[in-house]
Amino acid sequence: MSIKLGIIGGGQLAWMMADAANKLGVELIVQTPSPNDPAVSIAQDSIFAAVDDAAATEILATKCDIITFENEFVNLTALSLLEKQGVCFRPQLSALAPLLDKYEQRCYLRDLDLPVPQFLALSEEKNLESQIENLGFPVVLKTRRHGYDGQGTFIIPDFLTLSKIVNQRHTPFLVEEFVPFTKELAIIAARSVNGEIVIYPAVETLQEEQVCRWVIAPAKITKEQSLEIETIADKLLNSLQYVGVFGIELFLTAEGKILINEIAPRTHNSGHFSLDACETSQFEQHLRAVCGLALTNTRLHCGSAVMVNLLGYETSQSDYQKQRQQLANIPQATVHWYGKTEARPGRKLGHITVLLEQDNRNAVKNIIHKIESIWYPPAKSCQNFPE
Ligand code: ADP
Repeated sequence: MSIKLGIIGGGQLAWMMADAANKLGVELIVQTPSPNDPAVSIAQDSIFAAVDDAAATEILATKCDIITFENEFVNLTALSLLEKQGVCFRPQLSALAPLLDKYEQRCYLRDLDLPVPQFLALSEEKNLESQIENLGFPVVLKTRRHGYDGQGTFIIPDFLTLSKIVNQRHTPFLVEEFVPFTKELAIIAARSVNGEIVIYPAVETLQEEQVCRWVIAPAKITKEQSLEIETIADKLLNSLQYVGVFGIELFLTAEGKILINEIAPRTHNSGHFSLDACETSQFEQHLRAVCGLALTNTRLHCGSAVMVNLLGYETSQSDYQKQRQQLANIPQATVHWYGKTEARPGRKLGHITVLLEQDNRNAVKNIIHKIESIWYPPAKSCQNFPE
């Protein structure tokens, strides 16, 4: 008998579960706001409602055996009533609870003795200047909830800019030290119902204006650094008793220090390379974990891989056929197009992964350059290449 899996969220992360769901005989039912959302086309059934609409999730629960998340911006208080009534959420809600507020997430990591940047929660009652006096500028200001793809994250050069933003938006903020990182890294890990853990190779990522532009697998880091990151993933997954796939974004400093930037309790953009480059993709691994199946191999089956996001650079209803065809003609490339009905600046419309036989940074640099020059108008091309 096939497992019926409910997914809260119907964007590209749920859409990319389709092949693995077919392979494993899992039926997908999504809760997502719009019939135009990418995963509606691959789901057996859909409920059109916001991801934080717990009444809709109650209906979803009647249609499936297990519920998982593509989007974590849910109403945990309302969902916990359903969990108490026996609805099976994987990951279970107690594993999500410490992660949804960026300040609480930082506190959770710090209390586990994991390395994080210096941080504090801004209080509206206290004097702003005295609260941040130990940090020094620039600082990074983040809305505590609902931030993604850089929305709600601000790099702040001086006090005037800080007070302007804080006074304009009456929302809870986290402030942290600006980390002068040399590289951003990420890792995808999964934990099964039985507590088995598998970890993908760490990757290098590049963010421009706080949005991921490209990812290279594997990261060029030392064995000790890889091990340190794997130990972080292990400790976190076990401490949360987490079930499913989980992404961790990290900073690497010039001194070789590793700091955690953020945890994403779901499949993650930094793991998209695994669809084409690994023996088991992060999407299959997630389905395996939440459906109670054994986890499988996370190895790369090529020397290295480069994943470039195809980000919107204009408002348009074009499906960009011509550019997509040119991209598909790149040797060893696979283009994943999410089928969104409208392009907007910064919106993730698709991605492309190119496999390489060897880990050759010059070749990687040329591929990123080629993809960017096919996809973007000249002024929007990426200026940052891997070293
Ligand atoms: P989001 O949750 O919107 O993805 P993040 O907190 O991950 O936001 O931040 C997005 C990007 O902003 C990061 O990938 C990094 O490039 C930059 N950033 C975030 N925090 C810091 C920091 N403390 N120091 C330096 N850069 C940062």
